[in-house]
Amino acid sequence: MFVRDWLSANHVLLRSRDGHVLVDTGYVQHAPLTLALVAGHRGLAGEPLAKIVNTHGHSDHVGGNAALALRYGCPIAVPAAEAPLFAAWDEKALLYSYADQSADRFAVDETIEPGSVHVWGDLEWRALAAPGHDMGALVFFNPEHRVLISGDALWEHGFGFVMPRAIDPRALPATRATLDLIASLDVRTVIPGHGEPFADAAPALERSYARLEAFEADDERVARHAAKVMFSYSLLHRRRFPEARLPAYVQEVGFQRDLNAAVFRTTPDAMAAMIAGELLRSGAIRREGGDLVPAASEAG
Ligand SMILES: [Zn+2]
Repeated sequence: MFVRDWLSANHVLLRSRDGHVLVDTGYVQHAPLTLALVAGHRGLAGEPLAKIVNTHGHSDHVGGNAALALRYGCPIAVPAAEAPLFAAWDEKALLYSYADQSADRFAVDETIEPGSVHVWGDLEWRALAAPGHDMGALVFFNPEHRVLISGDALWEHGFGFVMPRAIDPRALPATRATLDLIASLDVRTVIPGHGEPFADAAPALERSYARLEAFEADDERVARHAAKVMFSYSLLHRRRFPEARLPAYVQEVGFQRDLNAAVFRTTPDAMAAMIAGELLRSGAIRREGGDLVPAASEAG
């Protein structure tokens, strides 16, 4: 496993004499680092890559797909529900340019249906639908060792941002159903999309249920969280952003503009002040001259 950061999701390399399989490939900006890690002595070490698999289509999970497929000539397998989005390269549904993010376009070779079973790294992995943070997402569960590759459906401290009810009424109920599914699996080890792997899913699930309950009680809180994590994610790949430009930015970026229209219904100045103010107070970002710069962040 390669533990990355908030800009690039982790990679899981499942090794087998029948062919090595890589789950998730990071953000496009750091694709050269992803290629180096995957090729290196802890990775393929000169052997070929047989397949790329994605938990979901967000930019921090598929950003190395194109470069890796080019180098290794290997097929790319994605959740069946998201295959049409890649075929159409739907930058809105995939939250690319629509959310001020990018990814190199790639071709889908295989689709993975929920409920299907795959042998990767000499282990059986069940693909399970894990909608919520991303409505087409999958998690991969190995029942023998009770290991879960959870993507952004469960982290040690929470889960990936969720759309407010006002934008997608399915997202919060789906998030609850996915947590219930994971709780039913009796997971011993979680390999999350971000952060170190961890043992014992129970405390992580407890924290996620608490966050979800707070979200279910307050749609504006869901929207504030989404607006903040998406902007802090942009700060990670932009590295700095002039604070004075933020009101214009929340009008230009569709994701932010739509959150405002559906939930905040306020001026761009007020929305920008909310985003910057809350991120500064929480210590997620800091001011440097007239710029906002990242301190630490989460997005998924
Ligand atoms: Zn995600």
